[in-house]
Amino acid sequence: MEDCIFCKIINGEIPSHKFYEDDLMIVIADIAPKANKHYLAIPKKHYKSFTDMTGDDAVNLGKCIKKVGEIAPSLGLENGFRFVINQGEDGMQTVPHLHMHLLGGQKLNEPNYNK
Ligand code: 5GP
Ligand code: ZN
Repeated sequence: MEDCIFCKIINGEIPSHKFYEDDLMIVIADIAPKANKHYLAIPKKHYKSFTDMTGDDAVNLGKCIKKVGEIAPSLGLENGFRFVINQGEDGMQTVPHLHMHLLGGQKLNEPNYNK
């Protein structure tokens, strides 16, 4: 997908350190970390959100989520982590390529979304 920053990172057009990569996803550090450890697990296929995913995308996302569980200790998330997917305007999604935030490396505050 042209002009998608995550597609450019996935295809190497923008260099990045990939903590993990397989045929379905990459894991990189978030450029603006909101916790001691903040990774983005990004499916390689470009689609914006849950609304846009196909059945195959759903199956592959399930595989990615299982893999996240397996590699979490190697990312320093052995003590647990928060898993977040922001969707759309109210979800404050800023990059229109579905991705998973993995936050940890500390005990995380429980956000109050009404504040
Ligand atoms: P969203 O708000 O869409 O759920 O999350 C997008 C995330 O991507 C943000 O946390 C932002 O800091 C991160 N981000 C945006 N551009 C880049 C980039 O070029 N490199 C990396 N590593 N992260 C990025
Ligand atoms: Zn993309």
